[in-house]
Amino acid sequence: MPQLALGRPGAAPLRRPACALSPATTSRPALHRNSGGHSLPPDKLAKAIALSRIRRILDLVSSLWGLAFLWILLGTRAASGLARWTQRPLRHRRLQGLLFFAVLLVILTLASLPLDWYGQQVSLRYGISVQGWGSWLGDQAKGLGLSVLFGAPVMLLFNWLVGRWPRRYWLAIWLATLPLLVLSIFLSPLLDPIFNKFEPLNKNHPALVAELEKVVARTGTKIPPERMFLMKASVKTNGLNAYVSGMGATKRIVVWDTTAGRIPDDEVLFIFGHESGHYVLHHLPKQLAGTAVFLFFLYWACAGLAAWLARRFGTRWGVESLASRAGFVVLLFAVSVGGFFLAPISNTFSRYFEHQADVYGQEAIHGIVADPQKTAVAAFNQLGQAWLEDPRPSPFIEFWTYNHPSVQNRASFAAHYDPWADGGQGRFFRK
Ligand SMILES: [Zn+2]
Repeated sequence: MPQLALGRPGAAPLRRPACALSPATTSRPALHRNSGGHSLPPDKLAKAIALSRIRRILDLVSSLWGLAFLWILLGTRAASGLARWTQRPLRHRRLQGLLFFAVLLVILTLASLPLDWYGQQVSLRYGISVQGWGSWLGDQAKGLGLSVLFGAPVMLLFNWLVGRWPRRYWLAIWLATLPLLVLSIFLSPLLDPIFNKFEPLNKNHPALVAELEKVVARTGTKIPPERMFLMKASVKTNGLNAYVSGMGATKRIVVWDTTAGRIPDDEVLFIFGHESGHYVLHHLPKQLAGTAVFLFFLYWACAGLAAWLARRFGTRWGVESLASRAGFVVLLFAVSVGGFFLAPISNTFSRYFEHQADVYGQEAIHGIVADPQKTAVAAFNQLGQAWLEDPRPSPFIEFWTYNHPSVQNRASFAAHYDPWADGGQGRFFRK
């Protein structure tokens, strides 16, 4: 699903893209060729198994290291020391706060850089990334610039809210988060060109756009060609992807150039159908509403944890209250812990929406391509191969970390989904 966070679009080379038809899995080829599910050639299978292990470990280590680093900042009193240090050069309290949060964001980014670097190295070794180090570092720098530009003022605002309403600050922060979420979705397509080049899809793929128009007509989405973009992903990756992003005037469908032109048009139609599903079924506002509910409970629970941490360790950490600058680092720690343990909830919702979009996509191309089942399975095979998806994810790993169902599950479902047999009809299309 579309990026909901004020994240770094250029980062996370090893991870699956945040939205999209992005993949997740497979199983032993022989087994699943028979059942019509997902399959990988033997050489890719061995690579996919090795890579998925690295991915799992790296994801876990990154999360734990993020928590450990915040703990170190507090435990060594580096956080409270930084708060004092940023007071010296500036008189104005707001400017001191901005400087503190800007420096904090730089430090946090630098702390995660070695693991990001390693992730990029692995991605290059496995032939998923093709991005040079200069370009990669450039993306990291741009990501950091954006995060300081938007993140520091937002953190300063939240920090102020804690001091203004010491008891119910989490509710105030939640209320402030909602418009910021909407704004971040609206702005994200405008920020994307900082990292990647875009062009109208019909500039180099007019035949494909003509085919896509058939799906548009069938879905009644009224997505005009001006809202279809091609992203020049091939300079950075061999991965396949397409996604919906933006809101209102910025809403659009984006297809990577590693997808359009490299895989058969029928499969691109299916991917487009899936993305149209997100569009037609209002997944973006629904996910926004879900995120709001999720954050309400996350903030509430984390406020309790933060209060306990401040009572228990405040003196040792040099944190006089949660409303102080260093106190905000305690809140960051509490939210990171909460986010880590509550991730399965948001991932479960995301997988549900992705499954709905899969069903919609398969129904949308019915009557347009010869065999919707085969086409969908073939598209999932392309995704699984391009990203070297885990052939056998454990159900627990899928439950906890996957924001899309595994490619294996998606392909198996697609292979058997045929509502039109015996004169039936689809869930979303009545004919
Ligand atoms: Zn999707």
